[in-house]
Amino acid sequence: MRKDSDNVRLLEPGEAPAKRKILVVEDNELNREILSSFLEEKFDVILAENGEEGLKILGEHYRELSVVLLDICMPVCDGFEFLRRRNKDKLLSTIPVIVMTGSNSKDAEIQCLDLGAVDFIPKPYNFKIVVGRINSVIKLRESVLTLTAVEHDELTGIYTRQAFFYHAKTLLKAKAEERFHLIVADIRDFKLINSSYGDKIGDEVLCYLAKTYTKMFRDGLVSRYGSDQFVCMTYGDWDLSLETMKKLTEEIAENAPIPNLMIKYGVYEDVDTSLPISVICDRGFMAIRSIRDNYEHSIAYYTEEMNQKQMQDRALENRFESAISNKEFVAYFQPKYDVKIEKIVGAESLVRWINSDGSMVMPGDFIPLYERDGLIVRLDEYIFRHVCEFQRELMEKGQELLPISVNLSRASIHHIGVVDRYVEIVKETGIPFSCVSIELTETATLNNVKIRDFTERLVNAGFALHMDDFGSGYSSLITLSELPFNTLKIDKSLVDCIGQQKGRMVVQQVIILAHGLGMNVIAEGVETAEQVELLREMECDDIQGFYYSRPLPREEFIKKLG
Ligand code: C2E
Ligand code: MG
Ligand code: MG
Repeated sequence: MRKDSDNVRLLEPGEAPAKRKILVVEDNELNREILSSFLEEKFDVILAENGEEGLKILGEHYRELSVVLLDICMPVCDGFEFLRRRNKDKLLSTIPVIVMTGSNSKDAEIQCLDLGAVDFIPKPYNFKIVVGRINSVIKLRESVLTLTAVEHDELTGIYTRQAFFYHAKTLLKAKAEERFHLIVADIRDFKLINSSYGDKIGDEVLCYLAKTYTKMFRDGLVSRYGSDQFVCMTYGDWDLSLETMKKLTEEIAENAPIPNLMIKYGVYEDVDTSLPISVICDRGFMAIRSIRDNYEHSIAYYTEEMNQKQMQDRALENRFESAISNKEFVAYFQPKYDVKIEKIVGAESLVRWINSDGSMVMPGDFIPLYERDGLIVRLDEYIFRHVCEFQRELMEKGQELLPISVNLSRASIHHIGVVDRYVEIVKETGIPFSCVSIELTETATLNNVKIRDFTERLVNAGFALHMDDFGSGYSSLITLSELPFNTLKIDKSLVDCIGQQKGRMVVQQVIILAHGLGMNVIAEGVETAEQVELLREMECDDIQGFYYSRPLPREEFIKKLG
């Protein structure tokens, strides 16, 4: 499937050009000697005594050869025969041939041209002309190769991203009256395909898709956009409805070299052609992102709302720095109650973004975004410090300190230094470690080899660890016993099921299990007296939820502490 030009090595940037290798096919010994003696200074010369030998050498060395100098009149396979046989082999015919003619016969020259020779050198030789012709043929060939390498993707032969941008721009201009459509494709888990089937099959999948899309969008443009992404642009009337796209994608998957090939498609219909082509492509990928974690959908259409959402996200990111320096992020505190004595025994800090106009943004609107772009690590640390300082103030007022838990995003696990910095903050503020505990979501504990080291370091430093949202994701009972969490927080989604008998049984067993492992159990999102009663019967230790209290701003929380 690889293109022929793969076999020719191009110079790497900065690499000094070595002597180019040339093949001289000439039967006259004296001519051979004259040619090699003056060409050797500039080129690496291989000699052949006749066409037969020449073809053999060409077959062996075509990868390194830059040009062939070919005599026409030779016994045992003459120049014409050499050209004819070379033309039968696609690889060999990529090496340019310069014919040496002494006959002065125009007919012979025309025949050679027809057979694919690129130039002539008249005999007797004028050395300057010979070197000049060889050099210009080599230069021309190498610039074409460079251009091909930049324009076409090595593996699939379709346009590269850069070439696509260029040609798409031209096409948009040339067909200005047409409606354009963009279809982008992203192979799911391509790394997994490579690792389970091998790179060769991975390559086959890519070539298969390139070929299929090229056939499909014959009048349009198809390019390999990223390693496992394709972009296709077409114009005119197309039925890109969900139904048609579904049929098409099923067909593509059925004929693929591997079973269960999953591809996500983003469709941007009736493209706004006034936009830069890179923005047009972004919109296709924006559509794909909207179904990124969705296993049920593989086709998404770009909508203006997606664009709005993306702009809002960018604005939220851009405002992060000023929000930190203007202290717009504040912690609210949601009390936790001991079920037996119905008294506050602690609280969870929950971030709120208070805008300058006093309006409040909830964490659901910015935390998922900050988790994706990594800003969450800084926000978490900011809130952690904020909570430590709050505890410090209470301590100075002589208030008895109750533990306040702080949420730590899974993104932090990958940041070395988080544990050290948190320890430093606690020491700086002079509060006991026991009054700030850390909540990690249970999904953060999955598939993560670093998690053991991370959690152990936190615990060794003196922090208590709470496993947050237990039961909301993939509950891993193993992590419960293996990692040093001392509290289990049962997620609201489980609590909501305790009205039904089966749900009640699950929660009961979770509580028994956690207690068996020496953990404390707290139920989250408890809203009704009935739930409180059931949880009390099940010997759940603590409760956090609207039934007792909503998350409170600091002053109200202080009042509640009494
Ligand atoms: P979470 O850590 O599981 O926090 C509990 C969420 O449930 C809070 O939502 C809380 O207001 C809500 N909640 C508590 N009781 C009830 C109830 O009875 N009924 C209902 N319907 N909801 C209840 P909130 O404050 O919107 O926070 C949502 C999530 O955002 C949190 O879930 C947490 O994952 C994340 N989050 C909040 N603050 C931070 C933070 O500082 N850092 C990080 N990394 N995540 C945070
Ligand atoms: Mg939490
Ligand atoms: Mg939770």
